[in-house]
Amino acid sequence: MYEFAVTPAVTQIRRRGVSIIEVAAGSIGAELDLEPGDRVMRVNGRLVRDYLDFRFQAAGETELVIDVRKASGEDWELNIERDESEDLGISFEQIVPRQCANECLFCFCKGNPETARPSLFVRDEDVRLSFLYGNYTTLTSITEDEMRRVIEQRLSPQYVSVHATDLDVRAYLLGIDKERADIREKMQQMLDAGIEIHGQVVLCPGINDGEILKRTIYDLARLHPGVSSVAIVPLGLTRYLNEPRLTPVTPQSCRETIKQVSSIQKDLRSRLGTTFAFLGDEIYLKAGQMVPSRKHYGDYPQIEDGIGMVRSFTNQFQSLMRRLDRAVVSEAGSRGPQPGSSAGVARSKRSLFGTIMTGTLFAPVLAQQFERMNQRFGTRLRVVAVENKYFGGDVSVAGLLTGGDFVAARGEVSGDFVIIPKVALKSDEAIMLDGMRFEALREKFDVPLHAWDFQDLVSAIDVSVN
Ligand code: SF4
Repeated sequence: MYEFAVTPAVTQIRRRGVSIIEVAAGSIGAELDLEPGDRVMRVNGRLVRDYLDFRFQAAGETELVIDVRKASGEDWELNIERDESEDLGISFEQIVPRQCANECLFCFCKGNPETARPSLFVRDEDVRLSFLYGNYTTLTSITEDEMRRVIEQRLSPQYVSVHATDLDVRAYLLGIDKERADIREKMQQMLDAGIEIHGQVVLCPGINDGEILKRTIYDLARLHPGVSSVAIVPLGLTRYLNEPRLTPVTPQSCRETIKQVSSIQKDLRSRLGTTFAFLGDEIYLKAGQMVPSRKHYGDYPQIEDGIGMVRSFTNQFQSLMRRLDRAVVSEAGSRGPQPGSSAGVARSKRSLFGTIMTGTLFAPVLAQQFERMNQRFGTRLRVVAVENKYFGGDVSVAGLLTGGDFVAARGEVSGDFVIIPKVALKSDEAIMLDGMRFEALREKFDVPLHAWDFQDLVSAIDVSVN
């Protein structure tokens, strides 16, 4: 009934099969009397360990034999015929992440307050989640079975935290021995099988910056196009992470990194045709510099890691401004000549009045955009920089703001609505990092509160102002 999955990282008991959590009404699953709590054990004779396995075994098959263990304990064998595109209408339990066996100097789990949501203490290191959600793994404890699965099921791309290709430095950062820190063969095995890899470096001043960083970028660039990009993101220190071996990232260290990496990027662009090594937006903002142009980011290969978000947003915002300009001109034109400024009359109708809350890092960029919009179109949209009191330290990004932080800043709210960044909520549940639910946060505000991402924000303004 149970199998033991023993890895260098963790020993955990896994039940065989994958549980059904929902069956859509009127679906094939419902016709077959499948119910939440039933477990799918095999598809076409092959064992199923999670929903990825199910997806892999069932994909494109028009004839399926599914072995199910009913919640009652009965075993059923179901023979299914379907059109290729026909969905079975069943949803499965989430993947339970495998955990790492590292002791990274900068591990975010050590930077959490004790009261943080339990999921923030999960040290996930799981190639399945890397493929599904872009979570980074270190590959230090990947098993042969997992490697086979990545290759067989083509779980590509994989996101790998490299940090440094110098093995002494990598081992030091990860808190493991050099032998385990060495992932060259594992990466090569993936690359040989055609699995694409995106790398990541968490930049720790005095440890893996300077010459170590340069070597890391060039070592990985030699593996291009298999390794298609590298994200370089700054170390984030909260007030709970008291690790004396870590030095905070400063505006000066950011400026030095930009200077160094810019010339490497230039060199790589001329040789590989891509910027390849991308610096996190925070590095530019902390340095007091504007992020690079749209061209620099190509097709934004590291946008999931937040790289290029500022550029993407400012470009979308500029297009929005151009659309609004055109709308004002055509509105004024359709009314014919007006006394005074025609655009001014059009603007006076535009009364969007509200507050946009975000982290202190991005707030100045956002405020600048909205000031231009307010001046040109008469909107009254105000940006409030919310300080992260929950994590403290140098945490300034929007995604780590908590319910308590928003509540603490509510005195600065003005207007008819408030917008908070959607990224501050868990991706699959309306809950924030301090455990406060979005609905509970809403009740603390006197005006409607929305959780939006940049795209939602731009679309909402577009619709409201036009
Ligand atoms: S940072 Fe990631 S890999 Fe390192 S110890 Fe924490 S969870 Fe594990």
